Amino acid sequence: MARAAKKQTAKSAVKNKPKIVAVSDLTPSAQTNASLVARRDAAVPRGVASAAPIYAKYAENAELWDVEGNRYIDFAGGIGVLNTGHRHPNVVAAAKAQEDHYTHTSFQVVPYEPYVALAEKLNELAPGSHPKKTLLVTTGAEAVENAVKIARAATGRPGIIAFTGSYHGRTLLTLGMTGKVSPYKKDVGPFPADVFRAPFPSVRDGITVEDALIGLKNLFLTDAQPSRVAAIILEPVLGEGGYIPVPFEMMQALREICDEHGILLIADEVQAGFGRTGTWFAIEHSGVVPDLITVAKSMAGGYPLAGVIGRADIMDALEPGGLGGTYGGNPVACAAAMAAIQAIDEEGLLERSTKMGEHFRARFAEIGARSAPHRMWDIRGLGAMIAVEFVTDFESAKPDAALAKSICAHALKRGLILLGCGMHGNALRIMVPLTASEELIEEGLVIFEDALSAAVAEQMAA
Ligand code: PMP
Repeated sequence: MARAAKKQTAKSAVKNKPKIVAVSDLTPSAQTNASLVARRDAAVPRGVASAAPIYAKYAENAELWDVEGNRYIDFAGGIGVLNTGHRHPNVVAAAKAQEDHYTHTSFQVVPYEPYVALAEKLNELAPGSHPKKTLLVTTGAEAVENAVKIARAATGRPGIIAFTGSYHGRTLLTLGMTGKVSPYKKDVGPFPADVFRAPFPSVRDGITVEDALIGLKNLFLTDAQPSRVAAIILEPVLGEGGYIPVPFEMMQALREICDEHGILLIADEVQAGFGRTGTWFAIEHSGVVPDLITVAKSMAGGYPLAGVIGRADIMDALEPGGLGGTYGGNPVACAAAMAAIQAIDEEGLLERSTKMGEHFRARFAEIGARSAPHRMWDIRGLGAMIAVEFVTDFESAKPDAALAKSICAHALKRGLILLGCGMHGNALRIMVPLTASEELIEEGLVIFEDALSAAVAEQMAA
């Protein structure tokens, strides 16, 4: 694995970009975006929606080129996977070096060191001084499913409590836990039993932390016998639900409630982890130590890898053979993850995330006031996990999903990839690589403002 000899600042890392591909690779190919859209429509089910009707040809750090040779600034980062950017040179080198040795043996048949090394690293990074163990799997949903299995086996209890607006995956168990109907849960129930829902605090809906905790306690009285609940699971910052941080006092209260009833606390860090919020794990901001943590996305810099990190005694609850999967902890992905984690550390990306978040907040406030008065209702998040929410007007604060969608379309036309989020689909989230240069971010923000003005003007004219 390639190792940088000395600590790099984010700035120097950006300068030390990998050698760009041959110009011929960036020239338009015979394929067009439109022809690929047509082929895709005929060959791929419509349920797999794509936010942008463009087809990728090449990507580097925070930029992407499509098959027609158009360049885009990538503020979506493959849905929060690319905190270290597209094709970070050390991540790619580590994966290639691993490919020269072996690409798959199945850890359950012939194990390998990269899995063990990554587990050791994750145990070291995760909050809490207790002994920890890590299971590696392939997707975020699989990590969540396994966290539930482990919690049930460790406690001997079936119940799981999740929150309104949460997102935990698209498999049937995780869909049962996900707290949003359309488009995820629509038409595919019934969902597994013993999954209960508690209210998430919401400024929009006037639900305070106190209200949310009353809701949870009422759930214990009405549906979920606390001594039959294995775990409470939540995202320290709601991801798909709109980049809303869990208030720290809520997280601390949940820890106390869990301890009182022998319930395990699971932090789903699939989207919020690996530096996005300025710390390795978003829950660290609250000072709360969870029993289990699910991880994926930016952990492996673009390779499919996920995991469950947890207290060693809990993680050992299942008998040998009770955990695993053919591809879980793929060695190429493990090598990539070690390099991505090292890049976050050596390039000072945690610090950079905090600064980047402050910058986005300040610029969004300016842009909102200038180009969309009374429409940008909220700017929120933690570190560089930032979202802006749009409404029809400040007085009614009615969610304006159409405006958010239109901003994305105008931005794409101007060369900026943006992605929405939120219970009402009226928020836009920032997942730009933490390695992006200040100049590139500014270029993206200028496009954002332009797209916002165009979308607002179009709406007024309609
Ligand atoms: N949990 C959270 C918090 C997520 O954001 C996601 C994906 N957006 C998942 C779980 C599911 O991950 P995957 O798509 O890799 O299954």
